[in-house]
Amino acid sequence: MNYDVIIIGAGSMGMAAGYYLSKKNKQVLLIDAYDPPHSEGSHHGETRIIRHAYGEGENYVPMALRAQELWLELEQEANKTLFHQTGVLNIGTEDSPFIQNVIKSAEKHALAIEQLSAEEINERWNGYDLPNDLIGCFEPNSGVLMSEACIQAFRDLALQNGSTLLTHTKVKNMTIHQGEVIVTTDSQTIQGKELIITAGKGTNNILSLLGVELPLQPTRKTFSWFHSDEDIYNKNAFPAWSYDVNDRIYYGFPSIDGAGVKVGRHDGGHPTSPEEKLRVFGTYPEDSQDVAHITKKIMSSEMPLKEGKVCTYTNSPDGNFIIDKLKEFPNVTVACGFSGHGFKFSTVVGEILSQMIIDRKSKLDIKQFRVDRFR
Ligand SMILES: Cc1cc2nc3c(=O)[nH]c(=O)nc-3n(C[C@H](O)[C@H](O)[C@H](O)COP(=O)(O)OP(=O)(O)OC[C@H]3O[C@@H](n4cnc5c(N)ncnc54)[C@H](O)[C@@H]3O)c2cc1C
Repeated sequence: MNYDVIIIGAGSMGMAAGYYLSKKNKQVLLIDAYDPPHSEGSHHGETRIIRHAYGEGENYVPMALRAQELWLELEQEANKTLFHQTGVLNIGTEDSPFIQNVIKSAEKHALAIEQLSAEEINERWNGYDLPNDLIGCFEPNSGVLMSEACIQAFRDLALQNGSTLLTHTKVKNMTIHQGEVIVTTDSQTIQGKELIITAGKGTNNILSLLGVELPLQPTRKTFSWFHSDEDIYNKNAFPAWSYDVNDRIYYGFPSIDGAGVKVGRHDGGHPTSPEEKLRVFGTYPEDSQDVAHITKKIMSSEMPLKEGKVCTYTNSPDGNFIIDKLKEFPNVTVACGFSGHGFKFSTVVGEILSQMIIDRKSKLDIKQFRVDRFR
């Protein structure tokens, strides 16, 4: 079989790309080192936040809005609950760049947000006890995605549409010619016309087979669940949130189906490598101290730690994504460096990758994600 597209790395972005390409009747082969969804990449831990008024920069807003539309369509097609509209409360000081970007994004794109004082927040949600110097921008239309269920939905639908998935498969070699890609795994040689590399923290391992390297830094991160009062912190009573004060950035989730409140820290973390086994939660004192500190600071109730897990960010030097064709190999497209804020976009990134293959260009502006900004 000569596949239209071979995708190496079938996690958040790769599985989405497989799904959107298969919808356009492309013959797709997906290859993954594990059996996605799984807990060896960047997508496990049940939940991810989706925000539209974007603190990282208002130029992400059109992508966030298209991503949201596509999540709702995917829910319909998969007939599964993938999104909970909990709303997201962005917490910070009034002058923080993150909060200012949220406000600018909302103004420019006519997004619904409410600006609230700490007093108004504490009044409205029993679960908060915010200090007076903080404010919040509440975005009611955003919320929480069930990350592993989303990847399972992409997978089921892509396979229903005729795609092939090779799990637990290692790529040993690749040869690229004009219009032809030959990928050798540990058990077979496969031919295709186009290649997409979406291997998360393993992207440079795959690219090294082509003599290419991108500036990616895999980083060990943790997140923790807390025992919490279900009446106050359940998903219908309490929003997801982000917190950005003095360059310390945290985020959290309401308790979904009794799991408990989940909290993580976005900045910091320990550099790692694709091969290194992540050190278990609790290896470093800050694994539990960091999140305990923030829950004490902004929550109204005591929350004993229930459990913690480790996960990986794959950071680019500027925290923005890399989505581009390789100059050296025009039939090779990469999408990586999602820097801890990519999951919400995986629908739209999948759609963009499919457009880059089928129409030769993305409908949305993706100039800011080009590889050559680092060269
Ligand atoms: C703790 C934590 C919290 C986060 N919170 C949020 C959030 O709230 N909102 C948000 O939008 N984003 C969030 N993110 C970021 C988001 O989850 C990631 O940006 C996104 O999952 C990255 O997708 P990916 O496809 O690049 O990686 P992955 O989903 O990890 O997929 C990569 C795939 O490639 C495979 N692979 C790797 N190497 C090879 C190889 N050599 N051969 C074959 N296959 C290979 C892996 O097995 C994996 O399946 C968070 C991330 C973490 C870790």
